[in-house]
Amino acid sequence: MPSDFRQEFPFFENIKLDSTPPTTVYLDSAATSQRINCAMTASENYYRQYNANVHRGAYELAQKATKVYEQARSNIAEFIGSNDSSTLVFTSGATEALNLIANGLTQNMLNGKQIVVCESEHHANLLPWQVLAKRFNLKLTRIPLAENGQFGEEQLQYAKSLITEDVALLAIAHASNALGNIYPVETLCHLAKSANAISVIDGTQAAAHLDINVTNINCDFYVLSGHKMYAGTGVGVLYGRFALLRLLTPSKVGGEMISHASFDNFEAQEPPLKFEAGTPNIAGVLSMTEAASFCRANLKAIQSHENALVNYLYSQLSSFKHMQIYGNEQNSLPIVAFNLLPFHCNDLASYLATEGIAVRAGHHCCMPLMQTLKIEGCVRVSIACYNTFQDVDDFIAALRRFVEYMTVSDKENLSTQTTTSTGSDLHISTEAHTSCSDTEKQLLAIDNWNEKHRQLLLISRHLPILPPQARTEINKVSGCESSVWLASYKGPANNYRFLAYSNSKIIRGLLFVILDKINTLNTQTIAEFDIEMYLTYLGLFKFFSKGRRDGIRQVIRRIQEEV
Ligand code: PMP
Repeated sequence: MPSDFRQEFPFFENIKLDSTPPTTVYLDSAATSQRINCAMTASENYYRQYNANVHRGAYELAQKATKVYEQARSNIAEFIGSNDSSTLVFTSGATEALNLIANGLTQNMLNGKQIVVCESEHHANLLPWQVLAKRFNLKLTRIPLAENGQFGEEQLQYAKSLITEDVALLAIAHASNALGNIYPVETLCHLAKSANAISVIDGTQAAAHLDINVTNINCDFYVLSGHKMYAGTGVGVLYGRFALLRLLTPSKVGGEMISHASFDNFEAQEPPLKFEAGTPNIAGVLSMTEAASFCRANLKAIQSHENALVNYLYSQLSSFKHMQIYGNEQNSLPIVAFNLLPFHCNDLASYLATEGIAVRAGHHCCMPLMQTLKIEGCVRVSIACYNTFQDVDDFIAALRRFVEYMTVSDKENLSTQTTTSTGSDLHISTEAHTSCSDTEKQLLAIDNWNEKHRQLLLISRHLPILPPQARTEINKVSGCESSVWLASYKGPANNYRFLAYSNSKIIRGLLFVILDKINTLNTQTIAEFDIEMYLTYLGLFKFFSKGRRDGIRQVIRRIQEEV
């Protein structure tokens, strides 16, 4: 059965061929899933066979396109348990759908003074409510999780005590993208209803894994994104009770959403078209209806396969010492979030990337959750129907190699470890580290990223370490995915010299490369030196993720602002 699922995803036929390093194990489906064949075929057939705009032309092609598009609306409404297709608005994704609700609500629709959200919400289901709270002077209140991110009976009781008459709106994910926790949305929406509050459910992560039934959940709004459920990107859905959709103000206006327009006014159509100004993502919608049919037809088999995989993954991860797993083990999507102490989650993910294993590390667009868990980020492994036991085995084997590698590279380097200064009198110990030209030569001699990555880990131990007392808020460089501290002092000939530290080993390696170079230059040259170009020249820049590259740029900016 599982191998049948995999066959439906053409991505897996091609992965070994064209990427460097090749991604052979894809465990990041919570970020975006791979696309199912039938979804891609539906988009392609539309482009090839009946490409025309919808709701506009009288000719046959346009009528066919409109018919298929509207049929997709009915199918997807049915997929989420609504028997009325006019409750279903097509959007560009869950983010747009959530913003559409938040921007469209009027004061009259809000009965109460509070907005309640869960602590684990994705920024897409938090920021729009922050904006709404400011607009109408409402209080944003959280449903807290247990210490390691679990949601259990205690949290449910607390949520029940929160959702009172004073609440105007409840917004919560059906399941958390960072932790996998499935939330008791039926119970919560029932409470919201009794409190006369609007309920919004973010079903983005649930769609590919759970049975969704908005009628049973009894929510007012429910949102989805196509790309998390095997369809194309740039398409999503907003379900809303028809009476509420009628009251909601459209935040996007323009072509095709009006029943009448004059030079200085317009009258909007009835929902859902009143929210679909402009040409929609027709090919995306058609891909989404096919993907939804696949999920619906195979739900039981998908769930049993994913459960078996995630149980196996749990059992394997538990065998690691110092493994910290967050969120619910039971009542969870096939998502496992963890940290393997003492390693930085980004170091772990970037090492796995060199072995062709795609997992996500960081805050997962849930920064407030990370603050609750008192971590900078975590690793997230997310499983979908096309994953196999072999994928889990490959991931676990690579994780073991990572631990071994980090431990060995620490030992190898102990003999050359640079001593650190203490207190506020910062200075660089010149003891026993390779010279700048040696580092350059070593890095230039390596022609592939995997080896360069290993080399960075090795040389990280040479970084003259900024003493703990100097790792203050003032010295912290903001905008980095891991913590980075940087401090300067005046060295020989009054030139600026720098010390730095990061809790990420790979970033310590990179800081070593930067400082090893600039700490030999005079102040004027440091100010003019193109550090980014230097890192690019050494082949160190392009393989970092965008988030990490932005962080490195912040370090560079800080150095050059200082001098
Ligand atoms: N909510 C959740 C729970 C998500 O996981 C995501 C995407 N990571 C979003 C909302 C936003 O979805 P999109 O980027 O497709 O709009």
